[in-house]
Amino acid sequence: MKQLTLKPGREKSLERRHPWIFSGAVARVQGDPETGDTVAVRSGGGEFLAWAAFSPVSQIRARVWSWLEAEPVDGALLRARLRQALAARAALLSAKDSDALRLVHGESDGLPGVIVDRYGEVVVLQLLSAGAERWRSELADALRELTGCACVYERSDADVRVLEGLTARSGALHGALPAAGVQLREHGLVYGVDVAGGHKTGFYLDQRDNRRRIGELSQGREVLNCFCYTGGFTLNALAGGAASVLSIDSSADALAQAEDNLRRNGLDAAPAEWQDADVFKQLRVLRDQGRSFDLIVLDPPKFAPTAAFAEKAARGYKDINLLALKLLRPGGLLASFSCSGGISAELFQKILAGAALDAGVDASIVGHFAAAADHPVLLSFPEGDYLKGLLLRRA
Ligand code: SAH
Repeated sequence: MKQLTLKPGREKSLERRHPWIFSGAVARVQGDPETGDTVAVRSGGGEFLAWAAFSPVSQIRARVWSWLEAEPVDGALLRARLRQALAARAALLSAKDSDALRLVHGESDGLPGVIVDRYGEVVVLQLLSAGAERWRSELADALRELTGCACVYERSDADVRVLEGLTARSGALHGALPAAGVQLREHGLVYGVDVAGGHKTGFYLDQRDNRRRIGELSQGREVLNCFCYTGGFTLNALAGGAASVLSIDSSADALAQAEDNLRRNGLDAAPAEWQDADVFKQLRVLRDQGRSFDLIVLDPPKFAPTAAFAEKAARGYKDINLLALKLLRPGGLLASFSCSGGISAELFQKILAGAALDAGVDASIVGHFAAAADHPVLLSFPEGDYLKGLLLRRA
């Protein structure tokens, strides 16, 4: 019997249904489980707590698949979980809004380490944990069957795989990517998506609702979109009637895709200005040029994957927010995001308060942003609540 026994008193988090077992909580492992194998997790007193996937090199030594002793972990269980995740999306999201959505959001869907995004007829699977990796072919087969999509493409190349002792892998698992490329539709706009080489699985689906909100706020405004990637906020601002949009990113590939996306939608290119630059430096250049804006979006990459990076990340967030607040005209709006798991919403608000103070401006919170409904947050797994944002209005 493969089993993992916890140190006395270390069953508390599992009793609250948190799905991670850290290495420091483990008293002993029996039965010689291999990476990804299912182990029975027991309390120090020998009581059954959960079935979990074993990951021998990770700090997260095991991730829970099931809380029920009578529920075997097999292809049928994973298929049932996938079916539940798909049903939850169908009930939450209207196909009118988009044909691209996150079908599976890892721990929050009872599938630790499994991410599945759908772009039209292409399903992208990302496996981030030893347990997810163990069930790779079962997951790929079930996804093809349950979605009916011809192509299931794997993008298991995120950095976090290293922590699980896994190497990077990507490529088609079923079918092939369409020769003409992948395109998605969202809020009446279309985007080309680089499924094979783009960030994450190709697109930042979590910002869907927030892109619409920015579109609604853009009428007649001069907009600055920092960290624009493939132009999500830029296109929504232009479609929403922005007077102009300056978009900045340090990736030439992302900017090329963004400009292509602008053309795909037949939007007027004249009000769009693109800068291939480091935002930290470019905000200073814009300040020195005396430029100012009515609406600024700051959507930087993850500065703090975990709390250990919080202090350095906090300095980064403060720097760009301070500069942005100074570039804002009185009455202007700043939509400022953090997708760092290591920065709580409370800390993020404090960082922005510090930035406003040092910028010498008064600002109020006039809105909150979070990830879209296809990125649910399990109440027992607050780590899933990584994307936060505030809409500030400069006095
Ligand atoms: N807002 C986008 C997603 C932003 S992802 C959307 O809705 O789709 C973060 C982006 O920041 C990436 O495109 C990355 O290339 C860019 N980036 C990272 N560091 C940067 C820096 N220092 N300066 C400019 N861009 C940067």
